[in-house]
Amino acid sequence: MRTLLLFLLLLMSPVISAEAGETAEAVYPPIGVDMPLKQVSRHVYYVEGTPGVATDNEGFISNAAFVVTGAGVVVFDALGSPSLANALLAKIRSVTEEPVVRVIVSHYHADHIYGLQVFEDLGAEILAPAGAETYLASQNAKERLEERRFTLDPWVNETTRLVHPDRYLAEGTNFRLGDVDFIITMVGAAHSDGDLTLYVEPDRVLLSGDVIFEGRVPFLGDANTRHWLNVLERMEREQLVALVPGHGVANTDPNADIGLTRRYLAFLREQMGRAVEEFIPFSEAYESTDWSGFKDLPAFAEANRRNAYQVYLSMEAEALGN
Ligand SMILES: [Zn+2]
Repeated sequence: MRTLLLFLLLLMSPVISAEAGETAEAVYPPIGVDMPLKQVSRHVYYVEGTPGVATDNEGFISNAAFVVTGAGVVVFDALGSPSLANALLAKIRSVTEEPVVRVIVSHYHADHIYGLQVFEDLGAEILAPAGAETYLASQNAKERLEERRFTLDPWVNETTRLVHPDRYLAEGTNFRLGDVDFIITMVGAAHSDGDLTLYVEPDRVLLSGDVIFEGRVPFLGDANTRHWLNVLERMEREQLVALVPGHGVANTDPNADIGLTRRYLAFLREQMGRAVEEFIPFSEAYESTDWSGFKDLPAFAEANRRNAYQVYLSMEAEALGN
């Protein structure tokens, strides 16, 4: 009788017994570091890694956030090992039973992506910025994983894999899930080969990944400044409640930094846009622009000329209707 019951049970729940049970334990060695969950706003939670070198703190050096929408959970970034992501999943489960339906990756760097397989195995859709494919195809990505299998043993191991996203986003996009509206903004190759930010509209919370908004001139890379400026204007109008960065504590008063970035982008577009309209060559336009409002900011010397050139070229393309 007992054998029959066991047989029936096995027949009914092969997936549960094989996958959710022993395998998770075996594949994902438990972590020894603390991972307190912090609630940022009504829908948004995050865990905060301890900033440091990549192999400190069992690799828990970056942040990950999640948004509970009423119709599923959206995760933002996946931490630096499957074990850490598995611990994040337990945190999600402490708040909601809703399925994890989507993972949005701010950028493809090891400390933010090695946990992706946990969510891929749950069937979540993974979205990443265009540019991530460059990283995935690189020798650097392979070597980094090999290195972490050694330096983050046993949490990064032979079963840890590079997860390709289901979709690459070249353009910013909006979506709604449950009662939450999201705005994805492509920042382009700013901090990595491709970066994006996620704005949780009803909560007025920005999940910024490693794109920096801290009283300095940003690296625009190939950012779509028209789109980015629109989003920043909107955030400034609505006033952010918090900004959760890719590393370190959430900033609960980010509006001054957002305003500075918005003013900088607006200034670049105004100056370079006028030059394009008047057929003034770039270097002439650059030299004749009064940069005094920004030239004392950190990273001005490194970033400004390249930023201005990028904006000049993209506004030339915009003027041609592209
Ligand atoms: Zn990072």
